[in-house]
Amino acid sequence: MGEVVRPERCVVAVDGPSGSGKSTVSRRLAMDLDGVYLDTGAMYRAVTWAVLEAGGDLSDPDFIAKVALEAELTVGTDPRAPHFRANGVDVDAAIRGPEVTGAVSAVAAVPAVRRHLVGQQQAIIARHPRIVVEGRDIASVVAPDAELKVYLTASPEARAQRRSKEDAADVTATQADLERRDKLDSSRTADPLRQAGDAIEVDTTGMSIDEVVVRLRELLSSKVQA
Ligand code: C5P
Repeated sequence: MGEVVRPERCVVAVDGPSGSGKSTVSRRLAMDLDGVYLDTGAMYRAVTWAVLEAGGDLSDPDFIAKVALEAELTVGTDPRAPHFRANGVDVDAAIRGPEVTGAVSAVAAVPAVRRHLVGQQQAIIARHPRIVVEGRDIASVVAPDAELKVYLTASPEARAQRRSKEDAADVTATQADLERRDKLDSSRTADPLRQAGDAIEVDTTGMSIDEVVVRLRELLSSKVQA
C-alpha cells in the first residue's frame, strides 16, 4: 500500500459523526505511523459510565460535572488494544452498551465536562510525538495546530450499516440512534460537532477501510512534505 511517511512529530485530527469510520481508520493509521491513538469519544463514554454508576439526575449539569471531575480515568492509547478504566473498573464493554450510548451526548454537552476532558486530551497529545486523535471537536478545539485535520463523512445508510454490524444491533434502530446523537452533538452550545474550516472532508461511503487509510496517508505526506 505504498511507502509510509512517519514524520518525527505529528498530530492527526480525525473528526466526524458516528459510523463515519473514524475508529477503525484512526487505529490503523496510528499503527502505520508507529504512533498512539486517542479515542476521545471513549473518554466521554467512560465519564458517562461513572455518572450512571453514581445514579443521580442526568438533567442536573452540576451533578454530572461533579462526578466527571472526580472520576479517575485510565486512558489506553495503544491502537492495538485501547483499554479504558474508570474509578478502577475495566469499562471496555460497558461503555459500548445501550445505557452509556443513550446518555453520552447529554453528559458531553456539559461545558465543565468538556473543559476537563479537553485538558486531559491536550496533556496526552503533548506527551506523544505521533498521535492520531479521533472525536468531534479535535480540529476545532482540542488540537487546532494538528498537522493533518480530516473530517470523515458517510451517507446515513452506510453509517448505520457499519455501526449495526459492529454492535450486532438492528440497522433501523441504529440509524435512529445515530440521527438522535448527531442532532444533539451538532446543536449543543459547547464545542458542537462541525467541520473545522481547514479540515479536509473525506466521504467514506463505498470506500473500504484500506482505501480510507491510504487516502489519509497520502494527505499526511502531502502536508508534512509541503
Ligand atoms: O465517537 P463516539 O460515538 O464513541 O462518541 C460518543 C459521544 O461522545 C458522541 O456522541 C458525542 O456526544 C461525544 N463526543 C464529544 N466530543 C468528542 C468525542 C465524543 O462530544 N470529541
